[in-house]
Amino acid sequence: TASSNEEAAAKTAVDTGGPTIFDKIIAKEIPSDIVYEDDKVLAFRDINPQAPVHILIIPKLRDGLTQLSKAEARHGEILGQLLYASKIVAEKEGIAEGFRVVINNGPDACQSVYHLHLHVIGGRQLKWPPG
Ligand code: 5GP
Repeated sequence: TASSNEEAAAKTAVDTGGPTIFDKIIAKEIPSDIVYEDDKVLAFRDINPQAPVHILIIPKLRDGLTQLSKAEARHGEILGQLLYASKIVAEKEGIAEGFRVVINNGPDACQSVYHLHLHVIGGRQLKWPPG
C-alpha cells in the first residue's frame, strides 16, 4: 500500500548531518504555510497532514539537533521554547483542549527529516496507542 511504502521509505532515512528541506523553509526559499514564528522557532503546516491540524515546530538554528537523541544540556532552553511554542500554536489553532505533540526520533520511529521537529496534531479524536 502507499502508506506502508511511505513508512518503508521513511525508515531508510538516516542522520547524515547534512542540510535538509527545512533549511529552505527557514530561508523561505520554498514556500510554507507559517502559523507562528519568533526569533528562535518556526511553526508551519505539514505538507502531508495526518489530522485537520498538523503543524511542525522547528528550531531556526539546528545547532546539532538533527534528532532529539542528539540533545545536550546546552539545548535545554531551545527544547523548552519548542514545547512552549506547541501550546501557543494549539491555542492559535483552537485545539488547546485536545492535541498531541510528537517527536519521531530515528529510523525505528520513521523520522524522515533530520532537523529536530515537533508535530502538533489535533482537530479530530486521536487514537492511542499510535502506530
Ligand atoms: P518526520 O517523519 O521526520 O517525523 O516528519 C517530517 C515531516 O515533514 C513529515 O510529516 C512531512 O510530511 C513533512 N515535510 C516534508 N517535507 C516537507 C515540506 O517541504 N514542507 C512541509 N510543510 N512539510 C514537509
